[in-house]
Amino acid sequence: MSARDLIIVGAGVTGSALAWLVTHYMPGIRRILLIERRSAPGLVNSNVTNNSQTLHRGDIETNYPLEKALQVKWGAELLGAFVDQHLPDGRLVIPKQVIAVDDEVETLEARFREFRQHYPDIELLDVDGINRVEPMVMQGRDPDQPIVSLWSPRGHAVDYHALAEKFIELARGNGVEIEILYNTAIDRVEPARDGFVVRANRVAYQTRFVYLAAGNSSLNFAHDLGYERNIALLPVAGSFYKHTRPGGVLRGKVYTMQNPKLPFAAIHGDPAVYNEDETRFGPTARPMPIFERDSWRTFAEFLDVGTMTPRGGVALARILSDPTMLGFGLWNMVYDVPIVGKYAFLRDVRKVVPSLGIDDIILDKGAGGIRGQPIDLVNGVIAKGHDRFVAPDAPYAHTIAPSPGASFCLGNAVELARIISERLGHPFDEARLLADLGLPAI
Ligand SMILES: Cc1cc2nc3c(=O)[nH]c(=O)nc-3n(C[C@H](O)[C@H](O)[C@H](O)COP(=O)(O)OP(=O)(O)OC[C@H]3O[C@@H](n4cnc5c(N)ncnc54)[C@H](O)[C@@H]3O)c2cc1C
Repeated sequence: MSARDLIIVGAGVTGSALAWLVTHYMPGIRRILLIERRSAPGLVNSNVTNNSQTLHRGDIETNYPLEKALQVKWGAELLGAFVDQHLPDGRLVIPKQVIAVDDEVETLEARFREFRQHYPDIELLDVDGINRVEPMVMQGRDPDQPIVSLWSPRGHAVDYHALAEKFIELARGNGVEIEILYNTAIDRVEPARDGFVVRANRVAYQTRFVYLAAGNSSLNFAHDLGYERNIALLPVAGSFYKHTRPGGVLRGKVYTMQNPKLPFAAIHGDPAVYNEDETRFGPTARPMPIFERDSWRTFAEFLDVGTMTPRGGVALARILSDPTMLGFGLWNMVYDVPIVGKYAFLRDVRKVVPSLGIDDIILDKGAGGIRGQPIDLVNGVIAKGHDRFVAPDAPYAHTIAPSPGASFCLGNAVELARIISERLGHPFDEARLLADLGLPAI
């Protein structure tokens, strides 16, 4: 059989976004194969209850400096336009804000001054302003506590599972040959004369370009190919608590200030995209030795990724020698202690909604995903910028747990389409993409 132009492995939002983009805006790419080991798209980290459903735009993510925030904004504008057009029932348009208390106030005020020219809709709210837009954030709060908020009227909450399904539905309906194999796990990727061979179920599929969007396990395949061998993964599970009452407890997303040393979002409160009465709080951050939350079979993938090796042990020890990282890790472990853990979590949730009581929140069993945090085995640090990889010398790319994750799936797909276009010599009609989404040309 002749070679495919492109094989995509993994039908979460990352892989499915590329499938949609290529079938619509790269007419020269004629034969595409998408391989997914689950029975349908978006059932792992992209599943609706497995993440926080936020479309990150960079403004309220206080760990992002301006440059990173603007890159995130670009991706969010693409995806925001896509969901408004194609997924109106799978998204909410709601306000969002980040609150700063006590000595954080000055930092947030400085961020507002720096960011407002790039995000013209953001406002800095004082006590009265917060009370007006989100009264439950103020109810029960110490009136003497200094507090400000950076507020944006138009944020998105997205059902990323529905998004993955929509990308696939549209990719299939465009007359381009896209073959999709579900319930098919790939076993191996090998270099071949004009590209790669992907092996699954004892069948060898030849391709000119391979893109691994298989979540955390992408790194295992990359290692086999000789890429990113100095990177391993620390899988960190995120769980959620929920509160249900008519109309929900929050009108919009409420984040708290982020410690820039920590790679994970601080605990926040979010109206659920699927139930207007439900408010979700989380995520927690607990190391777990698996790659997919509902699959202990992925333990073997974790063992194989290089974390449980002498180098991995030394790297983890060095990372945890930082008191901030150690304190964060230990505090998150307290959440798992019976009874005490729920009180510990409530303490953090009360930064968002101070009046909540212990019986107001319940653990959302079965919800939550696993973020594979790349760690640098040479320098013993959290490895930034290693969640996406493009081989310098071969038609190969992968993502692990792209940060900021689902929000950047279309931005990531556009950047990849440019690379695929360059490597395979087929044009990518980016101008038409922007026009179709109603966005200005670059
Ligand atoms: C707790 C938590 C909160 C989050 N909150 C947000 C948020 O608010 N906003 C945001 O933008 N991002 C968020 N993220 C990140 C976001 O969920 C992920 O970045 C995003 O879902 C990744 O999509 P993906 O398609 O790369 O991976 P996945 O959705 O995990 O998909 C990977 C796919 O690859 C398949 N696969 C794996 N191995 C194989 C194989 N061998 N063969 C074939 N197929 C394979 C899997 O079955 C799966 O379908 C959060 C993540 C977590 C864990």
